[in-house]
Amino acid sequence: MIDRPTIAKIMDATKIEEVVSEFVTLKKRGINYVGLCPFHNDSNPSFSVSPTRGICHCFTCGKGGNAINFLMELEQMTYPDALRWLAKKYKIEIQERELTNEEKQRESERESMFIVNDWAAKYFQDILLHDVDGIAIGMAYFRGRGFRDDIIRKFQLGFALPKRTALAEAAKAAGYNPKYLVDTGLCFKVDKDEAGNKSGEDKILDRFSGRAIFPWFSVSGKVVAFGGRVLDSRTKGISQKYVNSPDSVIYHKERELYGLYQAKKAIAKEDCVFMVEGYTDVISMHQCGIENVVANSGTALSVHQIRLLHRFTSNIVLLYDGDNAGIHAALRGTDMLLEEEMNVKVLFLPDGNDPDSFARSHSAEEFRRYIQENQTDFIQFKTDLLLKNERDPLKRSEAINSVVRSISFVTNQVLRDTYLHDCSVRMGINEATLINTLNNFIRNNRENRFPDAARYPQAQQQPTAQPQVVQDVTPVQQASKVERMLAE
Ligand code: ZN
Repeated sequence: MIDRPTIAKIMDATKIEEVVSEFVTLKKRGINYVGLCPFHNDSNPSFSVSPTRGICHCFTCGKGGNAINFLMELEQMTYPDALRWLAKKYKIEIQERELTNEEKQRESERESMFIVNDWAAKYFQDILLHDVDGIAIGMAYFRGRGFRDDIIRKFQLGFALPKRTALAEAAKAAGYNPKYLVDTGLCFKVDKDEAGNKSGEDKILDRFSGRAIFPWFSVSGKVVAFGGRVLDSRTKGISQKYVNSPDSVIYHKERELYGLYQAKKAIAKEDCVFMVEGYTDVISMHQCGIENVVANSGTALSVHQIRLLHRFTSNIVLLYDGDNAGIHAALRGTDMLLEEEMNVKVLFLPDGNDPDSFARSHSAEEFRRYIQENQTDFIQFKTDLLLKNERDPLKRSEAINSVVRSISFVTNQVLRDTYLHDCSVRMGINEATLINTLNNFIRNNRENRFPDAARYPQAQQQPTAQPQVVQDVTPVQQASKVERMLAE
């Protein structure tokens, strides 16, 4: 329970622009701030924040309100939780009494799950730092990867004891309802004993026992899930190197990104995000000094994840290992990024390196320089990859179609025309032919996916401004140059 004077103190300290900018990159415009609306798929900044009135408002979807309304809507927080969040941000102390068991029961399902996850993250961390096995097995693993103490704390890494009921018993002793251990996926039910005989009663076992623990945080910093990595001494006979929390009321795999909570400020500041595959890639890059990085376990990004990132930046660089698997992965799922109006670049690391190993053997400055010198515009990359050394006319035509199809997902017309012109030069194909193909794709995209036809104006047969292709200048840079010229 939070008393009224404390609520008043919290509301007095709260600055709406500071709260909103935790989630949205804001730009000053007059006395207000504007940014991309986090509540709808916004491409023109329609979200306005008024510091003087203490409110925010979207002129397209109408959502907004004061800081409390904003947090409740965006982060699905309860009213007391929004207050707690603000109190934490503005370092205002709240005197809250411990909940009784009865109250714990009454707390909403969601809340109880967050509470259990938060407790579990601290429990795993405590084991890592203080338990004999935690230090000997878990800490030895993180030390072996070269992780520093501050980084281990920043990502709240932990260790789960090998005993299959260790967490379940500790949670029970601390007064937590086993139902929520199962609901969050920390534990799972079994109805057989170790010999495989039906025991007649449900028993719960820990999901992550014996694993190094990587908690997943929501964008506002709540623990929503865990990833557990099996450690080398136990790899025999275990097929899955990583185990993750299953989807639950509070965790939807396709709506979260690992590391976003720790990275969001750097993403907004650098106006760019690096996409990698694994937990250790994210953590090693942080430790090396590159903090605008998130991971998605190697699968293609979902539209929810792309929009989540788009709140902070429009520029994404996909980092891959320089092997064949990496190159093929780079071609997957990229059209959706273009469709969501992200500027996409790809970066391949030197042979035998992943972001983790590269970050461990280079300084931040060296890493940044490598990125600067080697990142490639996605369309250019795809054109070169598919057409290089391809002499077979049928295969060439398939490749050209595939590239033009990717270009058809770019919604900015100037950028699209620039890409097309660039490709016609690179492929040695008449531009008018490419424009016809492009328009067919655009028509199909529109019919298949977007009933809203106005979003895709057709390409012009005679582009009014035909930019010269200059080597070393990306189409994105060219397009913004053309846009500036048109505006002048
Ligand atoms: Zn909106």
